Amino acid sequence: MITSTADATGLCRFVDASPSPFHVCATVADTLRAAGWTELRETDGWANAGLASEGRFFVVRGGSVIAWDARGVDSSLFRIVGGHTDSPNLRVKQHPEYISAGLAMVGLEPYGGAWLNSWLDRDLGVSGRLALRGEGGVRQVLVRIDDPILRVPQLAIHLSEDRKGVSLDPQRHVNALWGVPGGIGFLDAVAERAGVAADDVVGWELMTHDLAPSAVVGAAGDLVSAPRLDNQGTCYAGLRALLDAVDRPSDAIRVLALFDHEEVGSNSDRGAASDFLITVLERIVLARGGDRDAFLATMAGSVCASGDMAHATHPNYPERHEPSHTIAVNGGPVLKVNQNLRYASDATGEAVFAMACADAGVPLQRYVHRADLPCGSTIGPITATRTGLSTVDVGAPQLAMHSAREVMGASDVASYSAALQAFLAPA
Ligand code: ZN
Repeated sequence: MITSTADATGLCRFVDASPSPFHVCATVADTLRAAGWTELRETDGWANAGLASEGRFFVVRGGSVIAWDARGVDSSLFRIVGGHTDSPNLRVKQHPEYISAGLAMVGLEPYGGAWLNSWLDRDLGVSGRLALRGEGGVRQVLVRIDDPILRVPQLAIHLSEDRKGVSLDPQRHVNALWGVPGGIGFLDAVAERAGVAADDVVGWELMTHDLAPSAVVGAAGDLVSAPRLDNQGTCYAGLRALLDAVDRPSDAIRVLALFDHEEVGSNSDRGAASDFLITVLERIVLARGGDRDAFLATMAGSVCASGDMAHATHPNYPERHEPSHTIAVNGGPVLKVNQNLRYASDATGEAVFAMACADAGVPLQRYVHRADLPCGSTIGPITATRTGLSTVDVGAPQLAMHSAREVMGASDVASYSAALQAFLAPA
């Protein structure tokens, strides 16, 4: 039986600290630094960075982060838990300000498959990063505003055509109220809150977030209500698994790889389809004294668990789910299989994760999407294609995926993390 330090309250704290992918990386980095990890920069040489003698490092590329623990490991096999840092949301346009019906507005654009109705009538804050002109080049700062400065009002029911709700146009219907015209401009306000001169802001990636705090809910505290559980549920469980695995003997380097841009296809400088993971893994092998042949041999023997949240069977829509494959909230981690490879799991990967769950002493649930509904995907097939790593797709059950507010089981937080820990450092 594995013990886990992951719990529902810790997940709530993690999510509330991490409104954007950049803040996820900052939260992970702060936690790792406090636990003795050292940050490496991609622009530095790693040959003399101590990788051969020290074990715990991480590297950040924009909204993506890779961390590893190689202490006490002689071989260079990798056990990798992957995930993604981004979540669907509403993001700020380049010329966001305009006036409509006498009100100052901020133009927003959906990112990924945001469930647009869930973003209406919420108090929204803003977070992301600013790129500043500086003496030596561009400088970046993170910004977050946790005051309710934006709000997307929905149409009054009396103004809808049939009182059954309206279908939302992503161009016209998700722009936010900023206030009345004549006050401070939106970007000036963001710069002010970031403590920088507005004239120095020459680039930005800004997005909105629901300000209601994450909470443990339900009659007996059995549930977690939070934004961004897809996929910060995995980011948190994977991080705790990496930290908890420190005392387990292992013959593999334990890796946590969290990528930005999964919700829009992973094709970017830092997405799962980029060179980030494979470059970092090769540099680890080289800096530990191996050569290119040793790296390729390492990759052939390594394995990746692609962690992403899974669909629990919805109590109001049980017919939307595959019969005989009920996925229970608080029923334990989920193994995801798709014959058309929307998930990367194969028999070998399934076996590795099933044994990890048995090692952790947690039940395993097996998910199959209905054949007559389009199945979502994960970073799993992408990293498998990019790296050749044997890969299995896993997750924890949740409801309301891609809503501004999602829900999962409180006890699944620890059981998911325990399974990932056993995967990272098998008995
Ligand atoms: Zn996801």
